[in-house]
Amino acid sequence: MTAGPRRVGGRYFVQNPGPTNIPDRVLEAFRRPAIDFADPEFVAMVDGIWRELPDIFGGADKVVALTTVGHGAWESALTNTLDPGDAVLIPDCGMFGRRWARMARELGYELVRNERHTRRRTEPSDIADILAADTAHRIRSVCVVHTETSTGAVVDLAAMRAAIDAADHPALFVVDGVCSLGIEPLQMRDWGIDVVLAASQKGLMMPPGLSFCALSERAIERNREVTTPRFHLAWGPRFEEGAIYHRFGGTPPIQHMFALREALDIIAETGGIEASVARHRRWAAAVHAAVDGWATAGPWEINIPDPEHRTAAITCVRTGDLDANPLISLARDRFNVSVGSAMLTELDGRAFRIGHLGDLNEPMLLGALGGIETAMTVLDLPRGEGLPPAIASLAATSGL
Ligand SMILES: *Cc1c(COP(=O)(O)O)cnc(C)c1O
Repeated sequence: MTAGPRRVGGRYFVQNPGPTNIPDRVLEAFRRPAIDFADPEFVAMVDGIWRELPDIFGGADKVVALTTVGHGAWESALTNTLDPGDAVLIPDCGMFGRRWARMARELGYELVRNERHTRRRTEPSDIADILAADTAHRIRSVCVVHTETSTGAVVDLAAMRAAIDAADHPALFVVDGVCSLGIEPLQMRDWGIDVVLAASQKGLMMPPGLSFCALSERAIERNREVTTPRFHLAWGPRFEEGAIYHRFGGTPPIQHMFALREALDIIAETGGIEASVARHRRWAAAVHAAVDGWATAGPWEINIPDPEHRTAAITCVRTGDLDANPLISLARDRFNVSVGSAMLTELDGRAFRIGHLGDLNEPMLLGALGGIETAMTVLDLPRGEGLPPAIASLAATSGL
């Protein structure tokens, strides 16, 4: 297999919380030659994907694909469901929640938010009073980041839905599922979610460049009524079945579609979304065990103290007073393990983030943890044993 740049032999471990490792089958799909997007074979393949996508999101009424990154899906979700100047509630839960909120404000919407928190999940209590006080129903959407990739927290979406219902509030429920699709349980229909947006480079194990908005009937209705100017990212023209050019707002990303076909096949062949969610839970538990092991004799600490609040996708490891950046560089440049740096400004240089999502298995995970641990050893950083507890965790949950 190819090594990463500047590295000798062997595999390069992408343990960032996106982009993630890409299976060879998905990569090879990008080598397929060009084909006319109106070719019946291509259209039939896309139609097949379109029939499968609603279930991947746990019961969407329609799914719109966008040839853009998660930011494009954010923008699309806002401009397709709001009138100019509308108020939106976007809880302040970390870097991604903040960025989406900033986008809403720069697009001219009125931003409503709770007090910032970065060491727990967003709770129903963060929005309950705000919604109850909004008796005029000026807030038209509640926008929640499911897995906050900067902190490692995951939201209980059913509980958030219940809070919106308890306030008897008609706002749309919009969820950023970029770092949770295929990783965390996601029941769009049962949990009354109106929009789930997602992107290709996390749980779907693809390169970046493709994103989605999965929609409920309510979201589709709202979309017909609202008047925010939009063109390329508009959903309406993308609904027309058959007009494949318009379904993608322009030339379809043909090779991304071949790759998506492979990714969906891989997920199906390995037990489907539910099995994928279960695998991510196991990997997360093993990483948590490793960090707890390091923490027995060092400053290492999982950013989200309450295990119930932790996502299965990523772990943000706080490094106390230690500078995390030499560790990140050494792990990457010498030991072939790439992890994410701190994203929260208050943790700048004092945390790293291990992604445990996408195309992964036990030896890859242990290899990544071992690479990090080796870098810690070379740098003489204080730590307890991380690998033995991770191995014990994986063994205990192996099902054998
Ligand atoms: C990665 C990520 C995004 C941003 O996706 P881009 O493709 O970088 O625009 C948005 N939200 C969450 C939760 C993410 O993890």
